[in-house]
Amino acid sequence: MIVLKTSRELAAMRKAGKISQQALRLAGEAVEPGVSTWELDKIIRQFIEKSGATPSFLNYGGFPASACISVNDVVIHGIPGKSTILKKGDIVGIDVGACYEGFHGDNAWTFPVGEISPEAQALLDATEKALFLGIAQARPGNRLGDIGHAVQEYVEARNYSVVREFVGHGVGAKLHEDPSVPNYGTPGRGVRLLPGMTIAIEPMVNQGKAPVRILDDGWTTVTRDGSLSAHFEHTVAITADGPVILTSLD
Ligand code: MG
Repeated sequence: MIVLKTSRELAAMRKAGKISQQALRLAGEAVEPGVSTWELDKIIRQFIEKSGATPSFLNYGGFPASACISVNDVVIHGIPGKSTILKKGDIVGIDVGACYEGFHGDNAWTFPVGEISPEAQALLDATEKALFLGIAQARPGNRLGDIGHAVQEYVEARNYSVVREFVGHGVGAKLHEDPSVPNYGTPGRGVRLLPGMTIAIEPMVNQGKAPVRILDDGWTTVTRDGSLSAHFEHTVAITADGPVILTSLD
């Protein structure tokens, strides 16, 4: 069931989204060679709690940290750890959610660690661009397939692959709500988009082939072929005036 939000609820989601975005940016500013993913997670947890919010991911389905932090070939759901030390040339995806006054914000960004290869930078640029092309389709009258198609077309034209096993989602009073928001699709197909829908659009793009596998910890999801993967996400409200990014500093 897709829950449409009232304007009062959207205002609450903006607050949760702002805290989520601030936490993500703080962590991004701390990214540098020698920093552990555990330290980044600590920065995120402390900021969210100081803001009067709670980290959406902590204990979600048993997840043991406040953020998912995913390095290089880790696609999503990387578990922060003291022994995971960033080094120059890595890329690190940070996925953060915050719950404030009963509503969640969810966002992710992939950051370069020091100087990275042109190939890695191109992957980040393409995935970020694909996110915003998907967001641009999140307007009343369009359908979910328009979002997925916009992402998929841009990504595949650059010979990258869209991850299939994991998708975006509705977000609101629950971190994960209906509908599923795939990063692939057919224009004009799927659920019709209505004002009041709030969805997390989150392309996961592999430099190589699409298939992924989950490691024995039950969380860490890596590319099967060992290629790099990037992940960018915003929580977006569909309004009569078009898409509104809720995970913003505004
Ligand atoms: Mg999400």
